[in-house]
Amino acid sequence: MSDLLEIDDLHAFYGDFQALHGVSLRVRAGEVQALIGANGAGKSTLLKSICGLVAGRQGSVRWRGAELLGQAPNRIVAQGIALVPEGRRLFPSLSVEENLILGGQVARPGPWSLRAVYDLFPILQEKRAAPSTSLSGGQQQMVSIGRALMSNPELILLDELSLGLAPIVIKDIYARLPRITGQGMAAILVEQDVTRALGSASAFVCLAEGRVALAGAPGAFGREAISAAYFGT
Ligand code: ATP
Repeated sequence: MSDLLEIDDLHAFYGDFQALHGVSLRVRAGEVQALIGANGAGKSTLLKSICGLVAGRQGSVRWRGAELLGQAPNRIVAQGIALVPEGRRLFPSLSVEENLILGGQVARPGPWSLRAVYDLFPILQEKRAAPSTSLSGGQQQMVSIGRALMSNPELILLDELSLGLAPIVIKDIYARLPRITGQGMAAILVEQDVTRALGSASAFVCLAEGRVALAGAPGAFGREAISAAYFGT
């Protein structure tokens, strides 16, 4: 497997505030990486920086060897990277199906289509004409995942899928993840539940205060080492 995504010495800023301080990481084709860290560690900023959604960035983010920094978000999606943002961020005035169709605007070839998304989440077919805001939190998360899949990405960035959802709904969504990544799609998975994140990934990166505190295979470190990196102790 070759490196799809190579991030080197990435710094990210919101105005004068620096959220990332020299982050480096690699994602290989088909690999699922967990990105863990305490609140405010910079996980969402890292995902948004990859997608071109943070204006202040320095360093290098290369996709298949080509630099992404400086490229507009729509061009980045068109190259095969899709974000499922924290808090879902659906288009509230649009129906379920319209939200999904918007995700397919870039029209990359691949296995994902409305049909495939409805097969993955049958409830969305039932609700396809409903306003996205009328759905439960779990159903909205399914729309957000489906919208990202519709662009047929090679790398999907999943930001806190379980935020605000009931445990049974979280279990249901996670049970379907292998059907997504099983087709060879790489993923970076941000998750507050560290056990769940590490259990779903073959590699992890732990951020603390905008820096990589620990990285490797989940089995390579004991719980104490991971916990110390997580809490910055
Ligand atoms: P959480 O789990 O709480 O979402 P996170 O690890 O995803 O945390 P980020 O959301 O990336 O962390 O935030 C990293 C730092 O950047 C935090 O100190 C946060 O307050 C700050 N930050 C995030 N977004 C903005 C913004 N739009 N403007 C200013 N500061 C921001």
